[in-house]
Amino acid sequence: MYPERGTRADICLAHLQHNIEAFKNKHNGPLIGVVKADAYGHGLARITDALLGCDALAVATIEEAIQLRTFIPDKRILLLEGVFNRAELELAVEKNFDVVIHQAYQLELLMAFEVITPVIDVWLKIDTGMHRLGFDWSDYPQALHRIQQSKMVRDVRLMAHFAQSDQPDCDQTRQQIERNQMLQAHGLEVSFSNTGAVLNGLSQDREWARVGLGLYGISPLAESDASDFNLKPVMRVSAKLIAIKNLKQGQPVGYGARFICPGDMPVGVVGMGYADGYPWSDGHSHVVIRDRQAAVIGRVSMDMLAVDLSAVSAPQIGEPVEIWGNRQPVEQVARDLHTIPYTLVCGITGRVKFHVIEQA
Ligand SMILES: *Cc1c(COP(=O)(O)O)cnc(C)c1O
Repeated sequence: MYPERGTRADICLAHLQHNIEAFKNKHNGPLIGVVKADAYGHGLARITDALLGCDALAVATIEEAIQLRTFIPDKRILLLEGVFNRAELELAVEKNFDVVIHQAYQLELLMAFEVITPVIDVWLKIDTGMHRLGFDWSDYPQALHRIQQSKMVRDVRLMAHFAQSDQPDCDQTRQQIERNQMLQAHGLEVSFSNTGAVLNGLSQDREWARVGLGLYGISPLAESDASDFNLKPVMRVSAKLIAIKNLKQGQPVGYGARFICPGDMPVGVVGMGYADGYPWSDGHSHVVIRDRQAAVIGRVSMDMLAVDLSAVSAPQIGEPVEIWGNRQPVEQVARDLHTIPYTLVCGITGRVKFHVIEQA
């Protein structure tokens, strides 16, 4: 029997549904499932059936929204960056997308749209201190007033975004919370919180929480894993041992000879490299083989990485290797590689074969 390369990503829909329920228990208000970037790399088309528990869905681009509408004909779909031109606004009306309005040019697009009955729901984005998208704190009331004059707008809601939801006690977050509370005085529906804010207990009752990373069973908070919040990982990435070598003390491994064997040792070659989405790096991370941690050694190459098999008794060619998943959370890999879990899950490439599984 010859091995197959077998580099794969398993997507567990039961875990996704579990996480949606977990957020509904944590947050007292409607839940917007954030599924931009192909559902954070999990594959939008694969997971839509499991999203029905969300009250609305949000994406970044009009293309993502159009794709999502084909799967889900009758749920609220929110465009987080709004529309960029008249044609996109017409599409938003036709396909019943909600739009964020965050800059004056988008307000002008709205005002120039001639209709006699209201046709669209709008979320006015206000910059409460993150300084990315949104009308300035000092002049959002004029924008709100103009939106309320527009004949095309059905409902208007208010939106803001935390810059440091992982730092609930810092000055910036305190100021943002204070401003959020002032925004609520308008008596309109509001949306302020992302995953980090909900997990840190910052979400307001009845607000529309916008949860992305957490739905996929991943925590954005430093030093915590999703299991600390009763969330379960939706993506499990695994590969196989495609070669095993018994190396001698002093022999180098891989490009640039960045690892020198400190003693005689078994080394495994795993079919997972940066072209599959494992970040190019110099051996600071681990994989899991049969519940044993195995250190990545030397440089990650395009199609492969090397691991220290010393802790694995009688390793076999073709053995499965967990890159991240139930045994090693993607949060841990992100910490080891000095990156964030968002980039890891979004970075899995088309070369990896995806499988939908009902239960992990
Ligand atoms: C991506 C995004 C979110 C979701 O953030 P998570 O940290 O993944 O929960 C929420 N709001 C906006 C505006 C976003 O762009």
